[in-house]
Amino acid sequence: MTSYVHEARKRVGPRRTRIRPVIERLAAAHSDAAIALEFTSPLELLVSVMLSAQTTDVNVNRVTASLFAKYRRPEDYLAVAPQELERDIYATGFFRQKARSLRGTMKMLIEDYDGEVPRTLEELVRLPGVARKTANVVAAELGTPQGIVVDTHVRRLSQRLGFTRQEDPVKIERDLVRLVPREDWGRFPHLLIWHGRRVCIARRPRCEECVVNTLCPASRV
Ligand code: SF4
Repeated sequence: MTSYVHEARKRVGPRRTRIRPVIERLAAAHSDAAIALEFTSPLELLVSVMLSAQTTDVNVNRVTASLFAKYRRPEDYLAVAPQELERDIYATGFFRQKARSLRGTMKMLIEDYDGEVPRTLEELVRLPGVARKTANVVAAELGTPQGIVVDTHVRRLSQRLGFTRQEDPVKIERDLVRLVPREDWGRFPHLLIWHGRRVCIARRPRCEECVVNTLCPASRV
């Protein structure tokens, strides 16, 4: 995986003093930054995030539009034959594995959580097929972020902005939770993801039009 740590070379001040203005400027520039998955309940959120592994959010939304009309409660996922569920989520890819995870998760929701989606990271990662990243996304969207989601954009931008010198997502998250004010844990990844898609592009960052270029040690302007 490409590293961007070496791009952070300019002296722009300590990260502790830069973090708040960076968040404020990004929030102003990307007021629409939010999760792109469509859902109307915690259960739909959980399913969407589980289905989003290795595919695009657009693709997931296309599938869940009809999926959620058919599967409303955890029990509904177990009421059909496994092959039927596989067919219904086929277009999201890795459908066998995802169907297995969904069925396992629904079973545990019913048996251990009265059919409700739990809120803590420890409980969420117990669910079959729910990795830490999935759990983080779900917890953040439910208003109880307990960590910071590190995807490829968050990794690249955190490195360029000099917020971490780590390569491994778990270590990057450890740096970020020490730095980012807790109330911003939920929106911080969205801001970096949208900025990463629109401005701080992997191959050719648009530093000249970037709202944080005076606060970024990797700025090319
Ligand atoms: S686009 Fe902005 S955040 Fe990305 S490297 Fe350039 S100045 Fe830094």
